[in-house]
Amino acid sequence: MTDIPDTNVTDLHSHDAAPPTTKSVAVIGLGNMGGAMAAHLIESGFTTTVFDVNSERIDELVVLGAYPAASAAEAVTHTDYVITMLPTPWITCEVMLNANVAASMKPGSIWIDTSTSIRSVLLEVEAVLDARGVRYAEAPVTGMSHGARNGTLEFFVGASAEDFEDMLPLLQVMGNPERIFHVGPRGAGYVVKLIINQLWFSHTVALGEMMALGVKSGVDAGVLHSAIAGSPATSFFHEQGLTRILFDSDYDDTFAMALACKDSRLTVALADELQVPSALSRVVDAYFEESRVTHGDHAGEMSPFRLFEEAVGAPIRTTRADGIVVA
Ligand code: NAD
Repeated sequence: MTDIPDTNVTDLHSHDAAPPTTKSVAVIGLGNMGGAMAAHLIESGFTTTVFDVNSERIDELVVLGAYPAASAAEAVTHTDYVITMLPTPWITCEVMLNANVAASMKPGSIWIDTSTSIRSVLLEVEAVLDARGVRYAEAPVTGMSHGARNGTLEFFVGASAEDFEDMLPLLQVMGNPERIFHVGPRGAGYVVKLIINQLWFSHTVALGEMMALGVKSGVDAGVLHSAIAGSPATSFFHEQGLTRILFDSDYDDTFAMALACKDSRLTVALADELQVPSALSRVVDAYFEESRVTHGDHAGEMSPFRLFEEAVGAPIRTTRADGIVVA
């Protein structure tokens, strides 16, 4: 969602640079993100085995050429890579330990968790993988579900240098090759991803508050949108998120409030663990939780904006023809 400074960042080459492969991969968790990511792996020639507790998700990928598995453990037994794209760290833990994925992986293979998560919940999983000689890394993503569908995700990889090189061909077919960042050792990728999300959530609340103030003061929403666009206060959220809300009434229901709140809670918990002041994140988290309760677990991740619209008494909308008149 944002530019990352160049420090400790590895820029990569284009999709075309990825060599053809006979490597095999298992993908577990085939929702908005994981399903589209698996489709790109299949398309690119990886032998891909898939599992999800929702069998319809499996069927959709079998049509594209995936091998179905009857369980998560069965999916991983013979594969070189295992990708998980699951809702929460606790579900990931459940799948890796109780569903026996960690205990079934091939020695020398590599587990790549692409979920938005946190390392502290997964230490027990790492211990089981260490004992089996299985490697592990995380590669959480930004780019929303349309990025997953288009193969333009950004990855923030926490891994050893060797594992990063090893997993690169997979990431290159699922993401934008120029936005695959090796951000540090295991754990760092999760942290970078949480920070990016929390900043996005903060912008949602900040723009909700200021748009409501402007509109209730009598300023036209389209004028406000145009004025902010050209100002020092503009942002990626303004360009992408606010524009979708104002023009298309689109709160992005491909990323559910339940997951957004999970991410925000993980960020606050991390700040508490490290004793970093987090007053702003707590306020943002409270708005997100209020929105989740009010609008529902499945409402789109930009639904907190609606809390401010409710204060105005009507949706804040404009048409593409509206906007500021330049003298
Ligand atoms: P989703 O709810 O659409 O998909 C999750 C999938 O996991 C579902 O198909 C579900 O059936 C499956 N699942 C749940 N429990 C399982 C289990 N025990 N075994 C096997 N499968 C199981 O969620 P999503 O939007 O694809 O998000 C997945 C992860 O990606 C989350 O960590 C989220 O925070 C992160 N993320 C989402 C977006 C987005 O825009 N949706 C963007 C970036 C990151």
